[in-house]
Formats: sequence, structure tokens, C-alpha cells
Amino acid sequence: MSERARVVGAFAGARWGRPCPTRDDLLRHQQGRIRRFLRAELPLAKFYRDLRARRLEQLPIVDKATIVADFAGFNSRGITLDAAMRVAVAAERSRDFAPTIDGLTVGLSSGTSGTRSVFLVSADERQRWAGLVLARLLSSASLRQLVTPWQRPLRLAFFLRANSNLYATVASRRIAFAFHDLLVPLEQHIEQLNATPPDILVAPPTVLHRLALAAIDGSLKIAPRQIVSVAEVIEPDDRIVIGRAFTASIQEVYQATEGFLAATCAAGRLHLNEEFLHIESEWLDDSIDGHRRFRPIITDFTRTTQLVVRYRLDDVLREAQGPCPCGRVTRSLAAVEGRADDVLWCRVAGGATLRPVFPDTIRRAMALAGTSLADYRIEQRGRAWDVQLCCDVSVVVDVQQAVRHELAALADGLSLRRPDVQFALWTTTSAIDKRRRIRCVERPVEGA
Ligand SMILES: [Zn+2]
Repeated sequence: MSERARVVGAFAGARWGRPCPTRDDLLRHQQGRIRRFLRAELPLAKFYRDLRARRLEQLPIVDKATIVADFAGFNSRGITLDAAMRVAVAAERSRDFAPTIDGLTVGLSSGTSGTRSVFLVSADERQRWAGLVLARLLSSASLRQLVTPWQRPLRLAFFLRANSNLYATVASRRIAFAFHDLLVPLEQHIEQLNATPPDILVAPPTVLHRLALAAIDGSLKIAPRQIVSVAEVIEPDDRIVIGRAFTASIQEVYQATEGFLAATCAAGRLHLNEEFLHIESEWLDDSIDGHRRFRPIITDFTRTTQLVVRYRLDDVLREAQGPCPCGRVTRSLAAVEGRADDVLWCRVAGGATLRPVFPDTIRRAMALAGTSLADYRIEQRGRAWDVQLCCDVSVVVDVQQAVRHELAALADGLSLRRPDVQFALWTTTSAIDKRRRIRCVERPVEGA
């Protein structure tokens, strides 16, 4: 099958294929695919060869560290971490992302903290990925333009930390793909965008935010039909500014190095790609109205190069409640809240047990602290919350007071002891850094 045919095939299957009518049908479909995967594909990777598992639950839960420790054991080609890392690092340095190893694309996972890692994707997997992403993302109007030969090709502008031939796969005669390197200053991108205005703008929310400000001040003159937020959690204040600058609504894609996990549906919820992924929930909260937040443990039963089997991601997801109005039966999320270490911790009022304070509740509290706050960063070290505020010097005292008040109100509302809030000077970061507004560097000691 040609490269193009594979992309189109995956696109058609995901876009127009008969969806499972009920949740039970979906689960049955999954179970069938998983059984076949365990029998035929799993034994090709050394790590799993002797485990002879018949059911997924019999296999160990792994994470990035497990895979880094035995990289060759987790891919069906026996490629070592050193060999893959050499290709990935060379590509990152030269900003030429075409090289492959053994015909495989190597993705470098950025890793804001902890272990840096790489990921292997075959040409076949890459093409199916491209088809699936386009099927989930393209609006009807964009699709019409794509298939109408006398219209100009659909223009996609992609802002990324690193390009990869994974992304270039979507380029074709009908899709003009422009990679915008985040290492290049924004002014140059604005010039380029004005010269060839994109139909679809894909970028991390921090970049969308900066582009929105440029559109509001008039230097950026584009009106994309679709705006897609990737790679970071989209913050409520970013959403407001982006909404003010552009008429298109914001779609979200939840994509990790390990795969394409979820995308926004017409009803605005993020649907997990359960047609290809089996997702277990490691629940993080237990409120009276049941669980909401979880860390996903994913199994991709369609990938056969680097295996993703019971792989625990470092993300906190919040489940949406009730069936989605769009009618799809896959699980839907209200939000990707952040990474597991975006969760801060406080002791219960009058006790010593620790309770989580989830990042979305902190974001809400900070939003309530007022509009003079342009940006902020909160890092927890033990009982202290170090807060950096980016605001005008003339209002800093008022903003500090408002932030202290909102964080105390948040703790009171959760029946927790108030955090020891300490203010520090704002430090700027480069555009290439992933934004980490909220981060737990060190948990307080329980019971002390
Ligand atoms: Zn939906």
C-alpha cells in the first residue's frame, strides 16, 4: 500500500467508519483486538517474550523509567536506547528532523522533569497516526477545501519545539504544512504567517496566547478557520485572550510522545481514542460524588514497533460526567489538568494527613485574584508555596494581597490548613520552555 493510501485509509476509517453504537460494543471490539495483540505482537518484544500473558491485567504496569532502563526490550526491533538517542539528539541539534534509524522515526520526548526519553515509530504507524489526527481534527469546511481540487491547498501552520517526520507526514499536494520552530523569534513567524495565512493554526497555548496579543495589536493579520491547542494544558486566561483575538473556537489535542490520546469533539469535550487505546484509571481523588481525577495507564493495541502496554502516564485527567451530547461512546474528559507533580498538597485542618489540591482549582483561584495578574508561577517546597507574580509594579501589593486571600479561601473551602504563601521575584523563561505554572517540588511531610 502506498504511503498516501495508508493515510487516506486511516482517515476514512476514523471519520466515516461505522462507530460502535454502544459502550458494550466498543469494549467487545477492544477485547478482541487486545487478545490478538497479546498473542501476535507482544512476544516480539524481549521484555514480554517469556511472560506469556493471556490477559492484560497479568502484565506489569510500566512507566518511562522502566522503559529507559531496558529500551531494547520494549521494541520489536531490539534497538538500543543509545542508538536511538544518538539519532534524536543529532536531529535536535541540527534542527533537521528527517533522519531515521532502521527506517523508524525517532521522537525525543522533551521531559520537563526527570528522564529524557525517545520514542520509535514505523512508517506504517506514522501514516495511520496522520490519518487519524486529520480525521479527528478537520472541520467539514477544511475537509471540503482539502478535497476540492480547484481550491488552493489547505494550509496548516504548526508551532512545535521540534519538528519530526511524524508531523511532516501530513504534508501532501493538498495540505501545505509549515513548521514553525519555537527557537526562532516570534516576529519572524508573524511575518511568515501574514505572508501565507494558515487555515489551521496548531500551537501550544502559550504561543497561541502570544499570537493572539499580536492579532489584537494589529501586527498579526490572520483569521484561521481552526485553532488547535497542543502540548500544554490550556489555561483559562489564555483561552479568553485567544477567544478575543480570533473567531475560531479552540480545539484541543492531547498528544504525548507515546501517542495521540484524545481530541475535542463537536460538543467541546476531549474524547479518549479508545478505538486504539485501552485506558485504565488510577484514581487520585475520592469525593462523595465519586472519582473524577485519574492518572491514565494506557495500552495501544495497534502499535507494534515500540510497545505501549500498561504504560502509566504522568498526567492528571479529569473525567467528564455523563454521556457526551455528541453521541460518541468513548470516555470523555472535562480537562487534562496537568502532570502528576502539578498537584500540590496541604494538611487537613486540625490533622496531619495530606490532601491533594488539584491544579485546576488553583488556576481558578488565581483567576479570581484579578485581571492585573499577567502570569504567575507557584512552586511548593514543603509547607511553603513560593509564588512568583508577573504584574505591573504599581499594583503588586494589591495583587499579592488578592492572591493570598484567594489561596486561603481555596484551602478553607477544602477544609485544609492554609498554605504558607511566600512571594518571590518574577523570572522570565524562554519560549522553548514548556510552561509549568504549578509544580510541587517537595511535598510536606505527612504526620509531622
Ligand atoms: Zn463528545
